[in-house]
This record gives sequence, structure tokens and C-alpha cells, in this order.
Amino acid sequence: MSHNNNLNISNLRHHVDRLQQMLNDWEELNEVITSSTEDVSNADNDSLLNDHQILEAMQGACDEFSRDLRTVKINMLPSNEYNIEMSNGDQLSCAICINDFLSKEIIRTLPCNHRFHVECIDKWLQSNSTCPMCRARVIHE
Ligand SMILES: [Zn+2]
Ligand SMILES: [Zn+2]
Repeated sequence: MSHNNNLNISNLRHHVDRLQQMLNDWEELNEVITSSTEDVSNADNDSLLNDHQILEAMQGACDEFSRDLRTVKINMLPSNEYNIEMSNGDQLSCAICINDFLSKEIIRTLPCNHRFHVECIDKWLQSNSTCPMCRARVIHE
């Protein structure tokens, strides 16, 4: 269990490093934009193309940024190894893949207390923000 926590923290650190890197890129991009609007009076086709490329780069960076931020939010949800004492007779299987939880599998528990395999729920939460069982909101935008 402590091994799994370490793994999660290093995952999280990796994403935080990436976010930091992207913030640095943003600042560089911001300088480019600031300097390019200064000579907006001599705008020609070349600089219009440049602005379009900058806009595309910004959109790409923005999409990447929100995906990374979502991954960080997902990784912050508690996860642990499944063991027989955890079962308590309530939720014994993952509603996403319909398989029973097996001992030592990594299970993520949502704030609504519904549980899923980490791989199953993480994939779901990349494109959904609510619990697949009760629709309670899990990821706040
Ligand atoms: Zn599953
Ligand atoms: Zn739920």
C-alpha cells in the first residue's frame, strides 16, 4: 500500500513538473505576443500567418494544460489495494468493467464512496466529470 502511494506521488509530481514547464512556455509565448502587437501597424500577410500560428500553439497548449490539470485532479482521489476486509459485503465489483474486485487490485474510491478499478475510472474521468453509478460530480472544472 505504501508502495502504491509512492507511485501516485511520483505520478503527480511528473504532472506538476509538466504544468510548471507549460507555464514557462506560456510566459515565453506571452512575450512573443506582447512584442508582436507593438508593430501591429505594419501588419502584413506574413505577420497575420504568424498570429494564426501563435493562436494555434496557444490552443494546443491550453488543451494540453486542461488535460494535465484533469489528470492531477484524478490522481488526487484516494486509491488503495483491494483486500477482503474492505469488501464489507457492499460493493464487490467494478461497474465499468463488470469484473469482481480481486485482492491486491488497485481501487479508487470516489467522494460518493463508489469504487472502481483505477484503470477503469481514470479512463472514464478523462472524458466525464461525474460518477458512472450515481452521477455525483467528481471533477470540478
Ligand atoms: Zn473495472
Ligand atoms: Zn457514485
